[in-house]
Amino acid sequence: MNPGTGKLMEQCPWLRHLPNENKYICDIYDDRPDDCKHYPVTINQMVKDECEMLEVKDLSNPKQAQKSLDRLMAGSRPSVDN
Ligand code: SF4
Repeated sequence: MNPGTGKLMEQCPWLRHLPNENKYICDIYDDRPDDCKHYPVTINQMVKDECEMLEVKDLSNPKQAQKSLDRLMAGSRPSVDN
């Protein structure tokens, strides 16, 4: 929510598109909030958010996918047990 207008924002104000490289970057990456550092925490969260990083095999074996996600994110956030 934009604190100035009170309206919902369509995207994070720190997300910037680099048209020449056709990618997005975070302008405050090193100082981003913990929610950003820890995301995604669970496979269920990725499903709910329609995360593009989900693979078909993750959906057929979500427990293994959660273990892989926990390993991948070990340096960024605490792991969770499902
Ligand atoms: S990592 Fe967080 S702060 Fe950075 S662009 Fe994404 S949502 Fe915004």
